[in-house]
Amino acid sequence: MTFAIHGLAVSRGIAIGRAVLVASSRVDVAHYFIEAADVVAEIARVRAGRDAVVDEIRRLQESITHMGPKEAPHELGALLDVHLMLLQDEDLSAGVKHWITERLYNAEWALTTQLEVIARQFDEMEDEYLRERKADLEQIAERVLRAMKGTGSALLVPPHGASQREPRKPSQQDLLLDDTVDVPLILLAHDIAPADMLQFKQSVFAGFITDVGGKTSHTAIVARSMDIAAVVGARLASQLVRQDDWIIIDGDAGVVIVDPSPIILAEYGFKQRQGDLERGRLQRLLHTPAVSMDGEKIQLLANIEMPEDTHGALNAGAQGVGLFRSEFLFMGRQGSLPGEEEQYQAYKRAVEGMKGLPVTIRTVDVGADKPLNNTARDDAHLNPALGLRAIRWSLADPAMFRTQLRAILRAAAHGPVHLLVPMLAHAGEIRQTLAHIDHARTTLEAKGVAFGPVKLGAMIEIPAAALSLKLFLKYFDFLSIGTNDLIQYTLAIDRADESVAHLYDPLHPAVLRLVADTIAAGRAQGKEVCVCGEMAGDVALTRLLLGLGLRSFSMHPAQILAVKQVILRADTSKLAPWAQQVLESEDPAQQMALPERRASA
Ligand code: PEP
Ligand code: MG
Repeated sequence: MTFAIHGLAVSRGIAIGRAVLVASSRVDVAHYFIEAADVVAEIARVRAGRDAVVDEIRRLQESITHMGPKEAPHELGALLDVHLMLLQDEDLSAGVKHWITERLYNAEWALTTQLEVIARQFDEMEDEYLRERKADLEQIAERVLRAMKGTGSALLVPPHGASQREPRKPSQQDLLLDDTVDVPLILLAHDIAPADMLQFKQSVFAGFITDVGGKTSHTAIVARSMDIAAVVGARLASQLVRQDDWIIIDGDAGVVIVDPSPIILAEYGFKQRQGDLERGRLQRLLHTPAVSMDGEKIQLLANIEMPEDTHGALNAGAQGVGLFRSEFLFMGRQGSLPGEEEQYQAYKRAVEGMKGLPVTIRTVDVGADKPLNNTARDDAHLNPALGLRAIRWSLADPAMFRTQLRAILRAAAHGPVHLLVPMLAHAGEIRQTLAHIDHARTTLEAKGVAFGPVKLGAMIEIPAAALSLKLFLKYFDFLSIGTNDLIQYTLAIDRADESVAHLYDPLHPAVLRLVADTIAAGRAQGKEVCVCGEMAGDVALTRLLLGLGLRSFSMHPAQILAVKQVILRADTSKLAPWAQQVLESEDPAQQMALPERRASA
């Protein structure tokens, strides 16, 4: 039966494919396709893993028979029996074999997929004792996965030589015929940490759905950067959808349609083709300079997460990188932070990748919804977004901060680098930051290590900063407005919490006032102001930002051409008075919806 689930729209586009349900704790298991010729070996790999765990349990059983009742409580023996029974369960091995043979999933993926299927059956059981056996199932799967380590890749990305084929778009015929292999797959999880999401960049999924998360949560931001359909905050989606269901993601509307009827499939297939055509048309603007009708040159920059993203940035016609979120180099490493050399090499790759265009490297911004490790979520603090995050974290660990600063300064010897500091609010923080930068320079000089000049920028993303612009303009060469956080902190809305997502409003008069004042103050002093939050890539807001005087936008590469199209059709001199009206309005969204001539009458 067809039904729809409503969530939050993350990225444009339609995806149609089969659901792959993954437990959040298993999102970091390898997902790749194997070659048909490797099916037998892959099944053998799971068998070997399972047999190793069976042996282990049998040995344990053996040893407890020699113990007295005190050392080996009765429950332990019973537990081991249950584990053995689950391991040898026919449904588990037949299911795993099915996913490997029919879908060419790698062994780990097949195991976790079948695990989800069985876990669902346990959830539906009436008998409480049996329902609780789900935890045992989880445990044995964990042990088999561990036993399989070393017999194949435990990474998310395929091992060398594994199939990286792009799932093709299904034809209407495929969908109706229920084609099994080679159809697009859509990952569905309760939650995906930003670092895990990042690793899916080179993976097999055509779309993503999560139960939790806000529109500007970092998971959503990474999904958007992948330019594939995604919906977050879909609440119960991971419980309502079954493994392998056909689903449609409407990334523009934030809707997930489960088990679509042929008519709905036809409609969305058509929408999907329209979207593809539109993207094709936008490609024609690739080499057109971003100049408005009245001759204003607009800078269009890219937001990136990893040095390799510079290829995508150049291919999209970016004039530089406006935001390199360096924290992605630090996350998911089980606490071992990257050293100076590793960071230097990464920044240098980004600088060289941009071939002489500027690269804005933001110092590390971990904390809140970007924990260093997924396992170390900040549950200890009630408000992690207000806690030790970004520059606060850096200033709390001067050695780590100086290491990063030295690496950035060294990368600047290879091309133009701008150094951007997140979440500053206090004069004291600014002074400390500048002192650390000086210290980093002095250390490099003393060691005779080459480094280059950097332009210094501050992110304006805390209302206190937007209300202290004189201070910021005194110390910094440029400003970059982080609207994601500026909205979060102005409206007291957790950007990662879907339950308050309806209150997350870029057009709130207070937000617009802070954005407008920052742009105006920068311009008055001839200093560059950029917007690098998600507002910059939202075509519905491009004209307003132009009217407020913004001349530099930084966004996901995939959004650059659509924003450029709006710029080419805009006359900034006419937009300026209109933007002032929107700014003064009690209801800016409504004011924006009015035809411009009436609005300016
Ligand atoms: C922002 O806050 O708008 C921003 C660009 O930084 P991040 O999304 O990484 O917090
Ligand atoms: Mg921010």
